[in-house]
Parts: sequence; structure tokens; C-alpha cells
Amino acid sequence: MDKAVLPESVNILGTVFQVRVVPLSDGLHGESSQAGRYIAVDESLDECQQLETFYHELVHAILDHGGYDSVLGEDKQEALAQYLGMVLTYVQSFNELPKKGVMP
Ligand SMILES: [Zn+2]
Repeated sequence: MDKAVLPESVNILGTVFQVRVVPLSDGLHGESSQAGRYIAVDESLDECQQLETFYHELVHAILDHGGYDSVLGEDKQEALAQYLGMVLTYVQSFNELPKKGVMP
């Protein structure tokens, strides 16, 4: 099974989160931890599922990092992560995106 090419880490406004592809239990596809500074994706997922899960958890990490998790509440945050995770996977799959290092 092909594995998604996920970054080793992602920098969110100066905070670096490690990206781990690991076995997760209980049917969990992914998780993000603000305290642990990581995003984890289940290794048994196929390439597309790993990428979508990565973006889903990235949205959670971004919202948590900005304190929006408490502003939005769990249901709205999850809905946003579901939608944006899917859209970002689509956008990456069908577009040439700018390379890193654009910001000064
Ligand atoms: Zn979620």
C-alpha cells in the first residue's frame, strides 16, 4: 500500500509540530496534541486517507493553537476539520502549490 508523503514536521506560527505515522488504536485515524506538539496519523490508512487525516488534524492543531477550539466548541470544530481536511486534500491533489519560504 502506498503511503502518503507527509512532512516530518509542520510549523504553525512558530510552533513546530512533529508529524508521526504510527499505529493508532480503537479505529482512530489521527490525533493532534497541542501539549505534545505532534500530529499523528494511523499507518494502516491508505495514501489518500493519510493525507486527508493529516489535514484534518492540522486544522485541529491550528484551531487549538489560536484558542479557537474553546470559541467554536467541539461540534463546530469537528465540522470545520472534516470539511477543511477534505478540501485541503483536494486542493493539494489537483493544484501546483507554492513552495515554502514565501514569507520573509
Ligand atoms: Zn477531528
